[in-house]
Amino acid sequence: MKVIRSIFQMQEERIEIKKKNLSIGFVPTMGYLHEGHLSLIKKSKEENDITIVSIFVNPTQFGPSEDFNKYPRDEKRDLQKCEENSCDIVFLPEKNEMYPQYFFTFVEVEKLGEKLCGKSRPTHFRGVTTVLTKLFHIIRPDRAYFGQKDAQQLLIVKKMVEDLNMEIEIIGCPIIREEDGLAISSRNVYLKENERKDAILLYQSLKQAEELIKKGEKDPLRIKEEMKKTVLSGKNNQIDYIEFVDTKTLDPVSKIKGETLIAIAVKTGTTRLIDNIIVKE
Ligand code: AMP
Repeated sequence: MKVIRSIFQMQEERIEIKKKNLSIGFVPTMGYLHEGHLSLIKKSKEENDITIVSIFVNPTQFGPSEDFNKYPRDEKRDLQKCEENSCDIVFLPEKNEMYPQYFFTFVEVEKLGEKLCGKSRPTHFRGVTTVLTKLFHIIRPDRAYFGQKDAQQLLIVKKMVEDLNMEIEIIGCPIIREEDGLAISSRNVYLKENERKDAILLYQSLKQAEELIKKGEKDPLRIKEEMKKTVLSGKNNQIDYIEFVDTKTLDPVSKIKGETLIAIAVKTGTTRLIDNIIVKE
């Protein structure tokens, strides 16, 4: 496994891979790797000759009062996990090389980036799409792998690739959960013991919504009321949003019909958690 830290060296390496006509699968991450990330690596390995994982805690996707400085980092453990999972290359760019002093160019997917998480994190998706554009240009993957855990991000990345004619196939992968249903996230380490049990209520409320829809309920407002009760039964939980939206436009739906994304964001203690399910009527 090669560990590459410079952009130039990564580009050189990619040129060599392409000369050999090998396909590249790319898994962008912010590190502190867990089973969710590993599922993306596994999928990439199945579908490509070479799998490249990037680890970069991207400053531009954090707001000024967010957790950039305390975001969990453990490079040694991450490299070990990549090695164990037979990654070919790990790309760990330096912050100053990715964002030199005079950096003025941003990529923004309008509309989709303003909804759901974009309301409380207004510059978040612009940071995500900017760093991904840079990484896509440096690595030029054939396919890139993203988790459905970040459903809005996945949709936005697909839209960016389509709108900007990037020749990359974006592949969405299922949410990996703990045994009790909590969606695995690097940020789960922030949860204190009493918060951990309240965190499970996000998934429980999503399952509850699914059950109600199965029984014939079609009104998002009524379902949302039930979900709220469940989530707020955890005293550490504060709801940012619970939304029922169209899977393509992220516009709110007034009735459950066809495919609906139910997305939830909650602050459990000081930790912001997100989760979602897609229901089909
Ligand atoms: P992050 O390191 O949090 O930026 O995540 C990197 C990639 O891993 C993103 O595409 C996430 O959607 C994906 N991911 C994070 N958690 C999970 C999970 N529990 N299941 C599946 N994919 C995940």
